[in-house]
Amino acid sequence: MKIQAPVAKNETYTGTVMDLTYEGNGVVKIDNYSLFIANALPGEEIKFVVTKVGKSFGFGRVLEHLTTSPDRAEIDAKDRKLAQAGIAPLQHMVYPAQLRFKQHQIESLLAKNKLDLSVSETIGMETPYHYRNKAQIPVRNVHGELETGFYRQHSHDLVPLTDFYIQDPRIDKAIVIVRDILRAENVPAYDEKTHKGIIRNIMVRQSYYEKEMMIGLITNSHTLPRAKAIVEQISEQLPEVTSIIQNVNNRPTNVILGPITNVLYGEPVIHDSLLGNRFEISAQSFYQVNPVQTEKLYQLAIDRAGLTGNETVIDAYCGIGTISLAMAHHAKDVYGVEVVSTAVEDAKKNAKLNGLTNLHFATNKAEYQMAEWQKQGLKPDVIVVDPPRKGLDETLIESAAEMQPKKIVYVSCNPSTLVRDIQRFAEKGYHVTEPIQPVDQFPQTPHIESVTLLEKD
Ligand code: SAH
Repeated sequence: MKIQAPVAKNETYTGTVMDLTYEGNGVVKIDNYSLFIANALPGEEIKFVVTKVGKSFGFGRVLEHLTTSPDRAEIDAKDRKLAQAGIAPLQHMVYPAQLRFKQHQIESLLAKNKLDLSVSETIGMETPYHYRNKAQIPVRNVHGELETGFYRQHSHDLVPLTDFYIQDPRIDKAIVIVRDILRAENVPAYDEKTHKGIIRNIMVRQSYYEKEMMIGLITNSHTLPRAKAIVEQISEQLPEVTSIIQNVNNRPTNVILGPITNVLYGEPVIHDSLLGNRFEISAQSFYQVNPVQTEKLYQLAIDRAGLTGNETVIDAYCGIGTISLAMAHHAKDVYGVEVVSTAVEDAKKNAKLNGLTNLHFATNKAEYQMAEWQKQGLKPDVIVVDPPRKGLDETLIESAAEMQPKKIVYVSCNPSTLVRDIQRFAEKGYHVTEPIQPVDQFPQTPHIESVTLLEKD
């Protein structure tokens, strides 16, 4: 049935915001047709213009708030830029409301799927900004000058920006310094349209507990002109830099890093600590971006696993082994699996670095390795999973259940795949036994991280 949308593009309407989408947009309904509108909070009456009309829903932009929600945070014009950028899309919401939003998102997904499970209040952050330990900032030519900034949402127009609000301020400062050095050395910025130019991105990783910083220059070319002069100036102006790398990415893609990494200065890794373990982190490896909240998240995962020192644990999607090492102190043996081989190398080194001998790592897809371990007769007491947004593969759930662990600890960065996987586990006799616990890893953004404990009936 073809439904005629009851609104027209560029027309102005008023309406009351009913709800928020998982992206944090306000939902206004006109004759049962939903419009998604940024910077609009539930309960607010708004005047808006329709910007896009789709078959079953549309988009709008606020022209005026006729009433405002008590959850609305004051933001000034500078910060509005961040919302546009998609860097801090929840910034217009006071922090306690952001935490409630995240809890509510999981609750409503559970309700939609008729799952009667409770969700605890989101564990928040004391200072919910300036938390990110990593940035990958695009570099482009704007009005004849090399600029660093962000892409306007849904476009590839670069808007210059120097205060990213959610990043460690030392990273913001480093980006400006590197930008100025590149300008002075006349290194051309990459041009997406012509696929010419050199610098595509500047990457910065900052250690939280140590005085170390990694600068990455992502280049379209194999050679970086003026490399020696650039490196000299970076290390002089940013004495905390312990690693400068060049990563070559000459493919026309949105993926930031390419396959080749050259060390230009210092070490190929930086070091940081989590729950007392020290880690080597290379440019290509995944590492949690919010160190303060990650410690809370991992401690929670350890607590839920109920380890006494005698258990065999599997850590699937282990990255550089951060959860594996944290658990190894409380378990007999820990088996980790991860698909990125440099991350597994880091994980092995990290186990040694911390004097731990009860860890075993495999480079493989978690879904294959689980089946492998199951065939080999491995009998884990606890399986921890921390998959990417798409959640778990069905075959992984099957192999995991067949190994009959007492507990499965599910660390999730996407409530919708979590809720799907909870239902799949239920079919295999594993049920959620404690309230789902969200931990805010990404303040000012709609991303939701949580820990769920599943136990065998
Ligand atoms: N537990 C780690 C990493 C979590 S992020 C930490 O907290 O730091 C998810 C990890 O899963 C990434 O390191 C990614 O490289 C890895 N990954 C993605 N798909 C995978 C798959 N099919 N099998 C194994 N690992 C995978």
